[in-house]
Amino acid sequence: MSEAKKILNKNNLRPTKQRIAIVEFILQKNKIHVTASKLIKHLRNKNINISLATIYNNLNELADKGVLKKFYVNNDKMWFDTNLEDHYHFYDCDKDELIDIDKSEISFSKSPEIPSGKIKDSVNIIINLKNKI
Ligand SMILES: [Zn+2]
Repeated sequence: MSEAKKILNKNNLRPTKQRIAIVEFILQKNKIHVTASKLIKHLRNKNINISLATIYNNLNELADKGVLKKFYVNNDKMWFDTNLEDHYHFYDCDKDELIDIDKSEISFSKSPEIPSGKIKDSVNIIINLKNKI
């Protein structure tokens, strides 16, 4: 059984052709950041016909199952990350690309008090980059 099928089986997701293609894409590199619109281009190049809505549904499903992490960059674009370790990101605006920053690279000298009744869930840090002029 292929690695993609194993992952789908393990998470009780039916191994449709589209799902297998999505998971295979995610598995290509060890750590990958992807948006639905980047993924649709890749799948269409492989002649896999899929709507953007289906891609979103599949990526969200994989995120719900813990296969991917989901977060927003600049409040509008949803990214999915296969690096499940706690880490931060550079965002390269010119290339529309995320680069991992190891958690140990950033430390806090001051941290706000958590509002009462709440606990810290996660911390997202994105350092936006642009080309030097
Ligand atoms: Zn990442």
